[in-house]
Amino acid sequence: MSENNNFYDKKFEGNFKDKGKVIIMSEVLIVGSVAYDGLKTPYASTPRTLGGSCTYSSMASSLYTKTHIVGVVGEDFRAQDIKLLKSKKIGLDGLARAKGKTFFWKGYYKKEDMNVAITLKTDLNVFAQFDPKIPEKDRSIPFLFLANIHPGLQMNVIRQMKKPKFTLLDTMNLWINIARKDLLNVMKKVDLMVLNDQEVKLLTGMSHLKEAARAVLKLGPKRVIVKKGEHGAMLVGPEGTFLAPAMPLDRVVDPTGAGDTFAGGFIGYLARRGTVNLENLKQAIVVGSLTASFTVQELGVKGVAGLTLAKVRQRAKEFYRFASLPLIKL
Ligand code: AMP
Repeated sequence: MSENNNFYDKKFEGNFKDKGKVIIMSEVLIVGSVAYDGLKTPYASTPRTLGGSCTYSSMASSLYTKTHIVGVVGEDFRAQDIKLLKSKKIGLDGLARAKGKTFFWKGYYKKEDMNVAITLKTDLNVFAQFDPKIPEKDRSIPFLFLANIHPGLQMNVIRQMKKPKFTLLDTMNLWINIARKDLLNVMKKVDLMVLNDQEVKLLTGMSHLKEAARAVLKLGPKRVIVKKGEHGAMLVGPEGTFLAPAMPLDRVVDPTGAGDTFAGGFIGYLARRGTVNLENLKQAIVVGSLTASFTVQELGVKGVAGLTLAKVRQRAKEFYRFASLPLIKL
């Protein structure tokens, strides 16, 4: 198979060849932030680098299927960053350029708990007036990922889409705190919501993860994934619960974008499989975790930007070696 993005467009359900076999796959549309980030971790730092929920997730998703984005950047957005997105064959028709500066987020992590980002600055800039417009031709894309942006904007996107086959929702503590009502409205419209352990507790007020996950299901989504950082992820839905460990790494250099990469890898792989069923959802969680494991090993988007299917496959082999549980003999 050619290493990356061997696509033959056929109105969002094209074919591609994998080891000689033709596979029918669906395309993905992602709406979220395209940003510049200032990052400081115990191991690396940068005053300004490419970031944003849409950026990480689309680069991850584009490894597995054709991916389009909708977002906004400012006049300062660099040609080399557009070039990087284009090199992944990401559809940029929905990426608007507005007067002003690109969204800027600054955060840091403490060595004791690198799962928690401490926000120092959120400059909305062009995001303040952002009103996502889905290009007409992208409105029937079957797999939709509402990456982390204001839930009111996420709802505007849902209104423009023509009945996606599968909608995935992400959010963050900020929106749970300041836009809860909007968030609860969007939650009623989605198939699956991803939250990390702190967000699920904040949203539901419950401290036991499984109980909190079930409470999320009562608010609308058919299924929920609770991400537990280095401890893996848990899927809760009508079929019960599925637990996937995370790939153990010697060192996390920069956790920024781990959640976005997980979600992008997850939906990209699910769309590549084409059918939403429990088996494919479980596989997609494994792929999401593996993809995210590359993001956190480098500063900013470098890990996911340099990723190939061959690297994911290689890591999957290592992962399966230690992740399977022995059957006990009782
Ligand atoms: P993650 O580490 O996966 O939660 O995502 C980190 C990314 O989210 C960074 O690249 C930020 O640019 C982006 N981000 C941070 N705050 C916001 C926000 N309020 N709205 C949208 N994106 C944000």
